[in-house]
Amino acid sequence: MDGQLTFLGTGTSMGVPTLGCTCAVCTSPDPHDRRLRPSALIRWNEPDARERTVVIDTGPDFREQALGASLTRVDAVLYTHSHADHILGLDDLRPLSFAAFREGGPIPLYATAETTAVLEHIFSYTFSPDATYPNRARVRLVPVAERNPIHGVDFLRVPVLHGQMEIVGYRFGSAVYLTDVSEIPESSFALLEGLDHLVLSALRFKPHPSHATVDQALGWARRIGARHTWLTHIAHELAHEATNQTLPAGVALAYDGLTVPVTL
Ligand SMILES: [Zn+2]
Ligand SMILES: [Zn+2]
Repeated sequence: MDGQLTFLGTGTSMGVPTLGCTCAVCTSPDPHDRRLRPSALIRWNEPDARERTVVIDTGPDFREQALGASLTRVDAVLYTHSHADHILGLDDLRPLSFAAFREGGPIPLYATAETTAVLEHIFSYTFSPDATYPNRARVRLVPVAERNPIHGVDFLRVPVLHGQMEIVGYRFGSAVYLTDVSEIPESSFALLEGLDHLVLSALRFKPHPSHATVDQALGWARRIGARHTWLTHIAHELAHEATNQTLPAGVALAYDGLTVPVTL
């Protein structure tokens, strides 16, 4: 099946420009140097049905990203982990969830047990059995399985490490989305064969305890050998054009709004 992958946001947790910063990237006139918090959108047409849309992570910029992508419905959300830059936009699912609820029920949110616990805590007015807020999001938490079928597309769980924490990457068809990676366990490489599109996080050149550098990401990209590798979750140390000129063929920094065709 043909689908599309859109990068809704390619910035690191603080976004680029970073508040209060006057560096060359934060003040750059190049629109590719403006990066919202990390998120992605997968769309496809389900045979004999309608267009389906799945969002990976709803960060603090989700509302603006949904407006930019003309997103009018969400069929499911896949969460990678519970950090603020990946979850804080959950509440902005509310208007979309009312429509979804009328048509078929609450929007499923796929999350690990650890992410579920954080979501239930932060958004207790949404998830608590005692919640009385009438306009809360119509959503339901679903445990992430090895294989998560959503309207005809299988989303496979790909375990990766983010510092000490095991988090979730997702493979769909010939594409995979791995964000906030500091290490890829050996056992996960088997899930990364035959890729057209590999999305990998790469924060900057300087080492960081819980994020890969550009050089680490390039090492994995070489081993995995996808046709295209897109780097995301990018900090303000990396200027779009100047960095792209240093990257090998087939590897590039992604940017907000970039859409690539994917085979699902
Ligand atoms: Zn992050
Ligand atoms: Zn800056």
